[in-house]
Amino acid sequence: MDRNLLERIRELTQSARRILMVTHVAPDGDAIGSLLGLGLLLRAQGKELTLACEDPVPELYTWLPGSAGIVRQTSGPYDLVVSLDCSDERRMGSVFHEGLAGLPLLNIDHHVTNTLFGTINWVDPSAVATAQMILSLAGALGWPLSKPVADCLLTGMVTDTRSFRTYNVDTAAIRAALRLMEEGAELNEIARRALDQRPLASVRLWGEAIGRLNTDGEILWTEVTRAMRQRWGLGENGDSGLANFLSGVRESKIVVVFTERDNGTIDVGMRSVPGHDVAAAAYRLGGGGHPQAAGCTLEGDLAVVRQRVLDEVRRSLAGDDAKGP
Ligand code: AMP
Ligand code: MN
Ligand code: MN
Repeated sequence: MDRNLLERIRELTQSARRILMVTHVAPDGDAIGSLLGLGLLLRAQGKELTLACEDPVPELYTWLPGSAGIVRQTSGPYDLVVSLDCSDERRMGSVFHEGLAGLPLLNIDHHVTNTLFGTINWVDPSAVATAQMILSLAGALGWPLSKPVADCLLTGMVTDTRSFRTYNVDTAAIRAALRLMEEGAELNEIARRALDQRPLASVRLWGEAIGRLNTDGEILWTEVTRAMRQRWGLGENGDSGLANFLSGVRESKIVVVFTERDNGTIDVGMRSVPGHDVAAAAYRLGGGGHPQAAGCTLEGDLAVVRQRVLDEVRRSLAGDDAKGP
């Protein structure tokens, strides 16, 4: 980690008394794990913190220490805002409102598409998860770890790497995981809770979505409508398991899953094999992500959104983005 940047982060976090920490809408395990992990570390440094996320914590992460303390609205006053795992300002959602615009904003993230929206930007696409960056920060600043911190951070790493199986996993990621396991985090238990366990209704919904699978050349796509979720009594559970599962289909290079949210917007999840970069297509559609896993959120009718996204993905398969990471 760059020394100058580290010093600036040290100064910022030391001088701030009341810190607002924010993570992205529709949070995943890295969002929640990084927020709670850094929260525990900063509280141990005597900071007064507000941890915020526009959307509720998905049930599969509610076992993490402190998850019940995450709020969905913010009032202040604060001296510093820290954004975690957000590739652009909009990802912070409504918890980052106009009243906060004048405050210093520390942007900590690992997306290659990060728009550097902070006053200080620490963006490291070589990290497999924002949680891995938080571990590095704790090491660099001499903050002591604990089992609760390790549980949160390992959850972030496990969910973003599907338990250390994604293409970006390297020795640094494994070393970070080892450090967290030495602190008491249980890899097998975390992987089971975060990746393998899901309600029967979820699998039934997958069944319906798989029944509607479509191929378009080397693109495989399907959709989860609001009506489908209602049929199985499912809310917005932050489960990207279906896209991950479909990414194993041998005949396809790119997978796209469209999910209708309760507010009518469409979440688009994309996966690709190395050599095809979905982050670029997602970025052009106003979203972001990583070369092999990216997404965006679009407004409008599902059929219209689908056409627009598939056109963009087809273009990227045919041309410029086909160079890989
Ligand atoms: P998902 O398919 O939801 O697991 O998302 C895969 C990756 O795409 C995540 O790690 C996010 O970085 C990114 N992503 C998903 N949705 C969005 C969005 N609406 N805007 C920006 N990035 C997104
Ligand atoms: Mn995330
Ligand atoms: Mn992440």
